[in-house]
Amino acid sequence: MAKKVKMVCATCESENVKADAYATWSVQAQQWECAQTFDKGAYCDDCDGETTLDEVEIGEATNG
Ligand SMILES: [Zn+2]
Repeated sequence: MAKKVKMVCATCESENVKADAYATWSVQAQQWECAQTFDKGAYCDDCDGETTLDEVEIGEATNG
């Protein structure tokens, strides 16, 4: 069973983070599809600025 992870802000541990990414337009799906994300240049809503992301493993007992 694959482990699940979540991305959190390295500064405040908030989950309200966004990753900088490239998206490519899919003609078939008629929507943007995320092609590549970058570790650097992440944004945290709570810090209201740039941050770095920490990958946190989610235990099975943890709800969300
Ligand atoms: Zn933050």
